[in-house]
Amino acid sequence: MSASAIYMDNNGTTALDARVLEVMLPFLVEQHGNATSRHSFGRTARTAIDHAREQVANAVGAHPTQVVFTGSGTEADNMAITGIAAGAGVDAGQIACSVIEHPAVSRPVQALRLRGWKTASITVDGDGKISQDSLARALNTPTSLVSVMLANNETGVIQDVTAIAESAKRHGALIHTDAVQALGKIPVEFQELNVHAMSLSSHKVHGPQGVGALVLDKRVDIQPLIYGGGQEKGLRSGSENVAAIVGFGLACEIASRELEQRSKLMGELRGRLEQGLKSLGAVIFGSAAERLPNTSFFAFPDIEGETLVVALDRKGFAVASGSACSSDSTEPSHVLLAMGIEEDLARGAVRVSLGKDNTLEQIEAFLAALEGELLRLKRLTAIAV
Ligand code: PLP
Repeated sequence: MSASAIYMDNNGTTALDARVLEVMLPFLVEQHGNATSRHSFGRTARTAIDHAREQVANAVGAHPTQVVFTGSGTEADNMAITGIAAGAGVDAGQIACSVIEHPAVSRPVQALRLRGWKTASITVDGDGKISQDSLARALNTPTSLVSVMLANNETGVIQDVTAIAESAKRHGALIHTDAVQALGKIPVEFQELNVHAMSLSSHKVHGPQGVGALVLDKRVDIQPLIYGGGQEKGLRSGSENVAAIVGFGLACEIASRELEQRSKLMGELRGRLEQGLKSLGAVIFGSAAERLPNTSFFAFPDIEGETLVVALDRKGFAVASGSACSSDSTEPSHVLLAMGIEEDLARGAVRVSLGKDNTLEQIEAFLAALEGELLRLKRLTAIAV
């Protein structure tokens, strides 16, 4: 078991909010009805899901009828890519996504390619922002769907999705955005973003794991991934995970109510963190671009990211190397390579992602521990040479 006590991996997952757990518990015990049942247990579950749908919709400026609950952010991404591609058909045009997407988007695009769809990649510049030239080049070929994430899970870099959506729409393409990391950290407004589909995940906003949502413009022709009893208007069959959906709803409501205070706190803590990191000689990735207030992705030349993460864990700090979702992989971050970062430096990448419960004292303690570990690791490297 890990010795970590101070949690700084909030882009990986977040702690369940105690208020969220409290509203979930009755649905795990006495209110165990299936939401499709006609009796009072079923009706109570249905009413709770309807309320959660409103809470999620309100948090992102959408209409409740636009919210489709899924089993995760990954499922919402898969549903958007595969479902929209299936609705449009293989001859409707290519599917384009950015090179920095989470595998929950890039892998279904890859799978479509193997099944005969044409696909295209949109590149990014050195700051991790979408290249306008690359987007324009992709859109010169008939395109049925463009997918560009709102905020990157590794660098925290935020894309101008509204402008990207405008270009895509001008070329007759549908547009999906993965807003999983943006929710709860910056304002996320479905109408303003001007997209056709948007993915969300509960466990990034202090809700339970294993529930997400696809927010969907109802005019979009989309095929389900999962067929069965016709839940979620036939788009996602399977008895609803009532407790998780209820928790997700409240987590969204709290996240939007507390957004300003959370992002202010995280921004201040990140400011102090990065001041300290720079004075220790860190390179901070994507720092010239607009970023999520909680995320810092950095490296120290000649220090392996994995080694530093393990060393920091022993000192009681939980941080990530590269993307947490693929931390069993030893490949350098595809996001950093796409930004043109040298492979050696990319192997040093460490991500600190702060949350609502972190404090200035924790940042100071982290910087002190980091300084000690850097000295120790540099001494070890010197001996090895
Ligand atoms: N999209 C992004 C940008 C993510 O960071 C993640 C998870 O880290 C996901 C999608 C997947 O969400 P989930 O863990 O709910 O499947």
